[in-house]
Amino acid sequence: MPKPSLRDLQQFRTQAIEEIKFLPFSLPDIGAEEIAEVVDSLRSGWITTGPKTKRFEQDFAEFLGQGVEAIAVNSGTAGLHLALEAIGIGPGDEVITTPYTFTATAEVIRYLGATPVFVDIDPATFNIDPLQIEPAITPRTKAILPVHFAGLSCNMEAIIDLARRYGLKVVEDAAHALPTRYQGKLIGTLETEATVFSFYANKTLATGEGGMVVTRHADIAERCRIMRLHGISRDAFDRYTSTKPAWFYEVIAPGFKYNMSDLAASLGIHQLKKIWKFHERRTQLVEYYDSQLQDLPLKLPPHPPDGADLHAWHIYVIRLDESLKMSREAFIQQMAAKGIGCSVHFIPLHLHPYWKNTYHLKPQDFPHALSAYQQAVSLPLFTKMTDKDQERVITAVRELLE
Ligand SMILES: *Cc1c(COP(=O)(O)O)cnc(C)c1O
Repeated sequence: MPKPSLRDLQQFRTQAIEEIKFLPFSLPDIGAEEIAEVVDSLRSGWITTGPKTKRFEQDFAEFLGQGVEAIAVNSGTAGLHLALEAIGIGPGDEVITTPYTFTATAEVIRYLGATPVFVDIDPATFNIDPLQIEPAITPRTKAILPVHFAGLSCNMEAIIDLARRYGLKVVEDAAHALPTRYQGKLIGTLETEATVFSFYANKTLATGEGGMVVTRHADIAERCRIMRLHGISRDAFDRYTSTKPAWFYEVIAPGFKYNMSDLAASLGIHQLKKIWKFHERRTQLVEYYDSQLQDLPLKLPPHPPDGADLHAWHIYVIRLDESLKMSREAFIQQMAAKGIGCSVHFIPLHLHPYWKNTYHLKPQDFPHALSAYQQAVSLPLFTKMTDKDQERVITAVRELLE
């Protein structure tokens, strides 16, 4: 038998994938408009921060309204770092946050030589529990960094009230929270110092890599703008368009390299235009999951408590009942065997070696985060999934749990 050619192998692989029809846990929804805009940038010669980034920032600020400023960066992590730097977090400071998050939320506190102080979550919402924040406040506490888990707003009234009473600053990790509403206001427009969105590949608005710092404080906005580009007082586009000589710039701080490229912004401009359409589809998928899974031995994800609130539905997290014989691991494995990708959000930070060892944390230190983690499964949820895809997920879940 002749050796198969590379082409044969590739074809075999494509066929095999087709047959399994593996449904991933998430996929971005990139349309012809995004692709055309990227091509336009490539042809224009502006492939770093330029006119498209400016436009994306303007569109984003306009989308949120309330006079906020938007500063585009190359990741949500970069945005969180910039925001904390801009509010003056430094060595010796403490920042209160949740263990039920991605490591980026806490690592940026370490970048600045400050200490993350973890407090447990509200078991009903997976969000930081405001009642546990107050006892964790010390004279070194400078800020609170809440995460709107899955796209459901934290109890911001309680958090902002605590911050006012203790003179603390608040930076929101809104990586999941576009578009999320709290008491009728979009996340990004609340009375906090800054809010940071992520446009990572699987987020509700995807630019591959990217993020946005949003603030209503002019001084914070200015500091973020300068620090995102080496601490230089003018960016390349500014130098290109300004009447001052293009070669002249001044370094006023040891900044970072966190600027967004116009290629990413090209995606963002069109993703933002579709954000309500995307949200409508996500909500539809969520409502159907809810209706088809409600009689099974699992907990459905929490909905906002109040009609003025809106869930962004970045992820759909069910909790398997503790009484089930099947472990969470076995459930995910058997879903994969049925060609369906599931995930877990999150492995709480206090279980990871770095955080555990550095801060001497035990699993039981955050019992609600631990138990949420042990039961949580994120089911596929993305705008491009079809009704048929969703039926497959529902059938698979029912087969495993009925
Ligand atoms: C995705 C994510 C981030 C980081 O965003 P990047 O754009 O990937 O840097 C931060 N916090 C949470 C909760 C996230 O899910």
